[in-house]
Amino acid sequence: MSKRDYYEVLGVSKGATEVEIKKAYRRLLKKYHPDANPDKKQAEEKIKEINEAYEVLSDPEKKVRYDQFGHLGPNAGVGGFGGFGGQGADFGGGFGDIFDMFFGAGFGAAQQSRGPQKGADLRFNLLIAFEEAAFGVEKEVEIPRLENCDVCGGSGAEPGTHPKTCPTCKGSGRVTTVSQTLLGHVQTVRPCTTCRGEGTIISQPCKHCAGQGKTRKRQRIQVNVPGGVDNGTRIRIAGEGESGHKGGPPGDLYVFIEVQPHEFFERDGDDVMCQIPITVVQACLGGQIDVPTLDGKVLLNVREGTQNGAVMRVRGKGFKRLRGTGRGDQRVRIHVTVPTQLNEKQKQLLRDFGRTLTPENLATSREKSFFERVKDAFM
Ligand SMILES: [Zn+2]
Ligand SMILES: [Zn+2]
Repeated sequence: MSKRDYYEVLGVSKGATEVEIKKAYRRLLKKYHPDANPDKKQAEEKIKEINEAYEVLSDPEKKVRYDQFGHLGPNAGVGGFGGFGGQGADFGGGFGDIFDMFFGAGFGAAQQSRGPQKGADLRFNLLIAFEEAAFGVEKEVEIPRLENCDVCGGSGAEPGTHPKTCPTCKGSGRVTTVSQTLLGHVQTVRPCTTCRGEGTIISQPCKHCAGQGKTRKRQRIQVNVPGGVDNGTRIRIAGEGESGHKGGPPGDLYVFIEVQPHEFFERDGDDVMCQIPITVVQACLGGQIDVPTLDGKVLLNVREGTQNGAVMRVRGKGFKRLRGTGRGDQRVRIHVTVPTQLNEKQKQLLRDFGRTLTPENLATSREKSFFERVKDAFM
């Protein structure tokens, strides 16, 4: 089932101010208070819907996202996809079988109604590299989709012939039956079975499309992926879904982004995270280290006495901000490595060095007192 528009739920316009939204919310809460309604269950459902709408529209950030992406926010999981008619697509699917990545309403659903109908929406999972997600990328994707048949123009009738008005329903697509029951006459309206609700029948089906009016074609489409996208970001390309039925508009194409993990970098919001190992000597004495970034290497100054786990920030080397300007930062976590398999000479140097250490050489007061207690106990 498709979800109601949040603005509609609260009965406010898209341009409504925060105050108006709050007012509408309070008014509705009062109106659907379970105590004031005979059908408590229905009132509770209403309140749930109202709360959900208010939670989004009262939060400026969520509201912007909703205005831009609708119910299927950029981070919406697959679970949010009621309207798409299936859950067959899998983020992990990659490029394996392109047909498996699609699902649409197809013919069955479209033929329930006679009038022009919007074509089915399509979903395409696009796998991109970590760097491409950071900076954005232009991609060409190949979409298999149903399009109006070139030969019959979508009518399904062999060229030169025309669909005929259905004799059973006289073109209405519905059949009304009246039956006599204990309660009186009961009128039932059902879709016509002769024409499957179309109102017309095709006596000579188009050979090219077998009377379906549509054929599956592969279409190349340019997708402009903006920098800053993340797993699950949805890009809507209007009108690139399947052709409409009986002259209806085409559906939309939704490109879902999947970002390949990087072997070295991780992502945290708009920031890039990495861990750099340094030696104990570098940690003690400080110095310059090479740090890889998405833009190439940079030199980073490590301060004298840098502790294990210290985090340094390289400004502006992160992801482009999807909604905003500029870029995030790169955060570099320092990992001080302890040397192993020292030779006897190195060990002796360390012992000599160790004897010179005083509590003043230690960084934090907590460590100082710990050092002193240990000294008292063992030395
Ligand atoms: Zn055809
Ligand atoms: Zn009919």
